[in-house]
Amino acid sequence: MTPVTIPPRSGTAFRLAAGDTLIVIDPQGCQVADLLAFNADDIGEVLSSGRTLDYQSTIRLTAGDRLWSNRSRVMLDIVEDTVGMHDFLLTPCSRDTFRICYDDHDPHPGCFGNLAAALAPYGVLPDAIPSAFNCFMNVPVDGATGRLQVLPPTSKAGDHIAFRATMDLIIGLTACSARDSNGGSFKPIDYRIELATDAEREAVMTGCLAHG
Ligand SMILES: [Zn+2]
Repeated sequence: MTPVTIPPRSGTAFRLAAGDTLIVIDPQGCQVADLLAFNADDIGEVLSSGRTLDYQSTIRLTAGDRLWSNRSRVMLDIVEDTVGMHDFLLTPCSRDTFRICYDDHDPHPGCFGNLAAALAPYGVLPDAIPSAFNCFMNVPVDGATGRLQVLPPTSKAGDHIAFRATMDLIIGLTACSARDSNGGSFKPIDYRIELATDAEREAVMTGCLAHG
């Protein structure tokens, strides 16, 4: 399919079938995209930062790493990554983020509000939204003190990260709304879906069952 554009400071939701590959593209560079995944057959199963960091033993997730659910099943495999700098520690930016971190008195709904609105038609309630996988977000951790920083993304125009679904999913995806996360400006995010062949779909489903 041809790429779909998510306008600056907005979000969307769509289905991604097992075996299909989602490519998230930073078309202009230096822009974050928050990614969420829910099991399409049971939205109680959702992407889990804690499970993923535990099982992959790294906060620097990249190609070859797997993203796990709260029920300890793999939801997505990272199959391609031209950046190698993403964040899975911080929650989606929200009205409260802008109030607390930016002292903004008329705050934007942020990625949280955009995800909540996009996922509502699928039955996802705001309280069920966990930490997102923040594509291209640059959050270095100081090894000595443990302090976090939010620095501009290192992604350049056209950089991308690709995820293959290991189960039928509902995906939430944004063009992030937080100024500091995006180097001071708000840009779009593009995505496209590569459909699996029947053989690839079969292999993913079999692999999923083998992993329990
Ligand atoms: Zn955001």
